[in-house]
Amino acid sequence: MPETPVANIGVVGLAVMGSNLARNLASREGNTVAVYNRSYGRTQTLIEEHPEAGFIASETIDEFVASLAKPRTAIIMVQAGAGTDAVISQLAERFEPGDIIVDGGNANFHDTIRREKDVSETGVHFVGAGISGGEEGALKGPSIMPGGSKQSYETLGPILASIAAVAEGEPCVTHIGTDGAGHFVKMVHNGIEYADMQLIAEAYDLLRTIGGYEPAAMAEVFAEWNQGDLESYLIEITAEVLKQVDAETGEPFIDIVLDEAGSKGTGVWTVQNALDLGTPVGGIAEAVFARAVSSHPEQRSAVQAVVTSRPTPAERYEGFEDDVRAALYASKVVAYSQGFDEIIAGAAKYGWEIDKGAVAKIWRAGCIIRARFLNRIVDAYANNPGITTLLEDPYFAKAVADGEAAWRRIVSTAALSGVPIPGFGAALSYYDSLASKRLPAALVQGQRDFFGAHTYKRVDKPGVFHTLWSDDRSEIETEPSTH
Ligand code: NAP
Repeated sequence: MPETPVANIGVVGLAVMGSNLARNLASREGNTVAVYNRSYGRTQTLIEEHPEAGFIASETIDEFVASLAKPRTAIIMVQAGAGTDAVISQLAERFEPGDIIVDGGNANFHDTIRREKDVSETGVHFVGAGISGGEEGALKGPSIMPGGSKQSYETLGPILASIAAVAEGEPCVTHIGTDGAGHFVKMVHNGIEYADMQLIAEAYDLLRTIGGYEPAAMAEVFAEWNQGDLESYLIEITAEVLKQVDAETGEPFIDIVLDEAGSKGTGVWTVQNALDLGTPVGGIAEAVFARAVSSHPEQRSAVQAVVTSRPTPAERYEGFEDDVRAALYASKVVAYSQGFDEIIAGAAKYGWEIDKGAVAKIWRAGCIIRARFLNRIVDAYANNPGITTLLEDPYFAKAVADGEAAWRRIVSTAALSGVPIPGFGAALSYYDSLASKRLPAALVQGQRDFFGAHTYKRVDKPGVFHTLWSDDRSEIETEPSTH
């Protein structure tokens, strides 16, 4: 370790994400990168394998802190939860006011709010930064969603911009908002990712079960879709997965993979928080639940044992493939719209000023949901920042209207054929709920008033009312129910 501090940035935690991020930082002009890991073995491996990076390596946390130039800036990339708390307190004890601790892990934003409050009391800045793009993104250019104070972003912003992915000449990083805003937006990003993957999986199932396509043929269909409005990383890798042949059996790879999908928690958090915020995110929720259904083989086989007949899949009709594409696009518009609704609701609740267009911009490259489509969301918020839902934006309204007939044909054909489409179905029902002049919520209000005196409003005059259901059924004007 040199006698004077020389590193402008440090990385703590050198497992796959941390070492790739450190290498990415070191590869950019102007960065000198200090590295530290709890067990020194990982540090040694990294510096031996990558002498070109010129890392300043430390065996102890004290040496690591001493190697950082002021304001000291360190990015933590360790196991989320207790590991992150442990490293934060080690750094916070040693850092001085004005120094910056960045948590680049997948933290729960509630933890980030708590940590920011605790750390900032000492004058040290704490930034929770969502980093998307997996291992490859960390190495080559991720999409980065930092929260924390505006002041810390002045130092941190240029460093993060140096390693972020670039979309249309702009680095995929922006200051999202204070304290937990970055991790909140990263959480919603992952929720949208769940929905997008589920919708693509449903399109695959429809093409296969009703369309009769073999995996190799479907790979071509997805590759073709990737040339149009659906162009995205997830569609691109879907074509690659479907093209793959299992070396051992010679079967399509997709057919030898067990159909039980796992999850790591951020999708669940997106839905839990949407429930707390009262934001309907059915497309995301159905995607999380679809993985859960797939992972209950005991229930699946129990039901399969008692189901004696299944519907015969419909014949593939003229234009079926194009209908699936249109239904996928419309459902995707709904899922993204719901995700942005959650961001708007979260911003209102937690006091963040989030620029929705800027969020869409930094998702255009580096992250898993990168897609051409995001430019349309950028445009929508640029044209009218006050829209209440993306579905009212003229481009999206037309896109959904153009695909609506196909969407309905696909959802009804799937239902008649026994093909599960929780994502497509939920998206269409959500759209119909918004588009209907009148909802059966009126009946729900009547039922609530009947059994719980929850009160209701009338369509024809202001005020709050209750009907004396167990008396003479006359109506009284009252106060809103508090129970
Ligand atoms: P990981 O497997 O989540 O964590 C391993 C690292 O955490 C090791 O460096 C380990 O040190 C360190 N660690 C664990 N407990 C510690 C403690 N109490 N004190 C100090 N260090 C501790 O690593 P990862 O997969 O590289 O992910 C790092 C972070 O990035 C996680 O928060 C993860 O959720 C997030 N992330 C991952 C991905 C991905 O694609 N993998 C994508 C985005 C974000 P030792 O070597 O000493 O055990």
